[in-house]
Amino acid sequence: MSKGQLIVLSGPSGVGKSSIVKKVMERHPKLRFSVSATTREKRPGEVDGVSYYFVSREAFQTMVERDELLEHAEYVENCYGTPAKPIDEALDLGYDVLLDIEVQGAMQVMERRPEAVTIFIAAPSFAELERRLTGRGDTAPDKIRKRLETARREYTFAPRYDYLVISETGKVEEAADEVLSIIKAAHCRTENRIHYLKEEL
Ligand code: 5GP
Repeated sequence: MSKGQLIVLSGPSGVGKSSIVKKVMERHPKLRFSVSATTREKRPGEVDGVSYYFVSREAFQTMVERDELLEHAEYVENCYGTPAKPIDEALDLGYDVLLDIEVQGAMQVMERRPEAVTIFIAAPSFAELERRLTGRGDTAPDKIRKRLETARREYTFAPRYDYLVISETGKVEEAADEVLSIIKAAHCRTENRIHYLKEEL
C-alpha cells in the first residue's frame, strides 16, 4: 500500500476556501482533514475536535514546547497549529491529509515536509475578492480593509506554492475539480509509484 499524500491549502479570507474544502472532502473518500489547535474563540456552529481543538494560550504553548506541532503561526492575534501525530498516523494508513492553513505555517510545512503538495487558492482579481468580502454584509468596513491588507500580504507568498487554483465566482465545483486533479497527479509521481517496478529495475 502507498503512503498518503500531505496536501496544504492556503488562500485569503473570502476566497471560498472552506466551500472548496467541503466539496473536495465529499468527493475524495480517502482524504482526512487535519484538525488544528487554536486559541481563538469558538464561533457559532463550530464543534470542538471537529472544526478545531479550542485550547488556551497555555495549552497551546505546551504543545509548542513539546514539539507536538508540525507548524504553528499567529494570525489575527490568535495562535493556530497543526498537531503532527494524527497526520503521520493517517499518512501511514494510506490516507491523504488536507491542511487548511495560512501562509506562514505553509512555509514551515514546505521546509519540514518537502514532499507535501501545496496549493494556493486565489480570487480571479483583487477587486473581486473585495466584492466578496463586502458582499458578506456582516463585516464592518475597517475589518474588510484589514482583511484586504492581510490578503495582499498573503498573495506575496503565492509564487512559492506548487499549484495555483483560481476560485471563480460561483464555480466551487470547478475549483474542487482542480484540487482533486492535483491530488491525483501527486499520487502518480514516479517516487510514489516506483515500487511497482521493483522487480524490473
Ligand atoms: P479561521 O479563524 O477563520 O478559522 O482561520 C483563520 C486562518 O487560519 C485561515 O487562513 C486558516 O487557513 C488558518 N489556519 C487554520 N488552522 C491553522 C493551522 O493549524 N496553522 C496555521 N498556520 N494556520 C491555520
